[in-house]
Amino acid sequence: MPVVRRADASIANATVQQEIVRLAELREVQRAVLRFRSQESRFVQWQLEMARIPAPPFGENARAEWLAQRFRELGLKEVHTDEVGNVFGIRGGSAKEFVALSAHLDTVFPAGTPLNIRQQGTRLYGPGVSDNGAGVTALLAVAATLQELELALAMPVLLIGNVGEEGEGDLRGMRQIFSNPRWKTSIRYSLVLDGAGCDTIVAEALGSRRFEVIVRGPGGHSWSDFGAPNPILALARTIHGFSQTRVPTSPKTTFNIGVIRGGTSVNSIPESASMRVDIRSTSMTEMEHLEASLRRELDLAMAEEARASEQRGPSPRRSSGLSHEVVVIGSRAAGELDPNARILKVIRAVDAQLGNTAQIQRASTDANIPLSMGREAIAIGGGGTGGGAHTLQEWFDGTGRELGLQRILMTVLGLAGVAE
Ligand SMILES: [Zn+2]
Repeated sequence: MPVVRRADASIANATVQQEIVRLAELREVQRAVLRFRSQESRFVQWQLEMARIPAPPFGENARAEWLAQRFRELGLKEVHTDEVGNVFGIRGGSAKEFVALSAHLDTVFPAGTPLNIRQQGTRLYGPGVSDNGAGVTALLAVAATLQELELALAMPVLLIGNVGEEGEGDLRGMRQIFSNPRWKTSIRYSLVLDGAGCDTIVAEALGSRRFEVIVRGPGGHSWSDFGAPNPILALARTIHGFSQTRVPTSPKTTFNIGVIRGGTSVNSIPESASMRVDIRSTSMTEMEHLEASLRRELDLAMAEEARASEQRGPSPRRSSGLSHEVVVIGSRAAGELDPNARILKVIRAVDAQLGNTAQIQRASTDANIPLSMGREAIAIGGGGTGGGAHTLQEWFDGTGRELGLQRILMTVLGLAGVAE
């Protein structure tokens, strides 16, 4: 990590802090705060409506169309959808560079999952209601407020509902945005809204690599072809070896085998078996180390299973042997925000102004893409509280949401710059 020279850093921080204090005192900003409080029922309506539209990975179209409609109603400029389904709208400003405010539209839930979105008092229940119902609702609430405020922003704000954050979506929405020549260099700051809360700042991008390992063999009858190499046994040997790989606690590095499939019946030697492996770390080196270990253990296991099958007995089916394949099904780069980054100073100053306490966290979010490119990005929550993310029991409570919204708005204004 670069060394921060204290004196310089505190002078810079003091300047940012003064600017945030000035913003907080603006009449228009104080109007916005009252507005956030009085419009909670409108926000809840948006959140319920949105969560009722299924948005499985690679199936976000209907929800994206819904968001584009809301963007148009709010009068954002240049509302459009790109080739992968990301939705954009612009709140104008005088400069050429943008502050991007984004929230992912997709959920982890496959098509056909019963959504059963419901409200009980201040609580909302149902899959996706918080992740990312809270983020998308905050995006809309802040967009609506920016439209209403009579403030001259220096930098325009690019509002984005993006696809493909979760699981196999593999950040494809963000990847597309940061490879589009129009946005790639013009987005100066990225503020990602993900889930509920206002007590975290994700400034470290947790990297991950995901693999599908497939082993194939000749198959056969469990009795008459005994001796044929067995893909399930080869996979089991791989798991046994790989799971003994040592990983450091710092930088935290983890692995998981989350899915295993294979075989047809109890009395058949399987023709194939596969598993899905997840590797995570904030260090690219540690991820590479784990991947190398997986590939090495797989090669060893294949050789061992070939030898063991010979010892089991002669089989007419052995000659065709085993084959294997490792398919990369996900890859997210690791990265860290420069501790001197302006975006970090701004959010810290906003938190100080609001009396809000927040911890720096590492996680895998849409911010991974800009962070891995050395750009200024953080991910924060959309306010309120939530729980049970990625389960059917997911919930969100909007009590106190206005603090989170105020935090997002002030950060956007602090980054974009507001004329005196
Ligand atoms: Zn999320």
